[in-house]
Amino acid sequence: MTTIMDGKAVAAHLSEGIQDALEESHKHGIQPKVAFVRVGDLSDSISYERAAMKRFEKLSIETEQYHFPEDISARAFLTKFREINEDYSVNGILLLQPLPEHIDMKRVVELMNPMKDIDGMTPFNLGQVLTNEKNRLEPCTPAGVMEMLDFYDIDLKGKNVTVVGASAVVGKPLSLLFMNRDATVTTCNLYTDDLTAKCSNADVIVSAAGAMNLIRAEHVKEGAIVVDVGINFNDEGKMVGDVDYEGVKDKTSYITPVPGGVGAITTTVLAYHLMMATDYQKEPVLFLER
Ligand code: NAD
Repeated sequence: MTTIMDGKAVAAHLSEGIQDALEESHKHGIQPKVAFVRVGDLSDSISYERAAMKRFEKLSIETEQYHFPEDISARAFLTKFREINEDYSVNGILLLQPLPEHIDMKRVVELMNPMKDIDGMTPFNLGQVLTNEKNRLEPCTPAGVMEMLDFYDIDLKGKNVTVVGASAVVGKPLSLLFMNRDATVTTCNLYTDDLTAKCSNADVIVSAAGAMNLIRAEHVKEGAIVVDVGINFNDEGKMVGDVDYEGVKDKTSYITPVPGGVGAITTTVLAYHLMMATDYQKEPVLFLER
């Protein structure tokens, strides 16, 4: 029988750790604060920001929103971003993506203090993931996938893992996190030849492609673990993942639903990272100079 992995249970577990860290910070007179930085009004960014705000407020974490008009000049935005980045009262920054085309995302990310980078997008933090250094803030969706697997005590050493999707925010860093656990990883993209063959051999399949019904029964071997990161909306406007959940469920040993799976963890991981960031800022040398 399959185990349905419950994102809400994982988030609740993480929230306990956040509450403990929050109490510890308060004892030292520190009130951790996150800054949400958004340029323009893209609906995806707004809904992600709203979900994150809700989570932080529920955890009684201080938030500050910085919204800039779509037509703000690159120079003006960089000046404002520097100010937020250097503000000692801000412990973590969530930079909503994408930025308008005239603002160079790479330049902004390179400016960000890696110790405030709660969504693990700076070259420093991605480098720490690559080399498997201990002090780091990981991109929160891949980190959420690992939290889910850890919560269910899934040992990854020596496992064949197929990650479907190779973006810089999900698929690639996730593949590295699996490699850091001594898994054997196959990373697929839109041009991968014979996806069925790449998946049907896997002990663990993670789909982060954004393609409805991509992973079906023929992709899944008996007893495999299937994690669905994808978010899509079907003809009835219902949120679904990349996996044909009903079609594959009975073949799996563990599976995540959509909604209620990885998506239910991501914003809690952000809050957890804020606590880590606050901690690193107490002793920056430990984080940056190893
Ligand atoms: P992206 O569009 O940047 O990248 C998608 C990747 O999947 C690319 O590497 C592409 O080559 C690959 N891909 C697309 N179609 C494919 C196919 N048919 N076969 C094989 N590979 C294919 O997207 P992203 O930002 O990495 O997000 C991926 C999905 O995860 C989206 O549905 C997104 O909404 C979702 N997402 C969910 C969360 C969450 O918290 N659950 C967070 C971030 C992203």
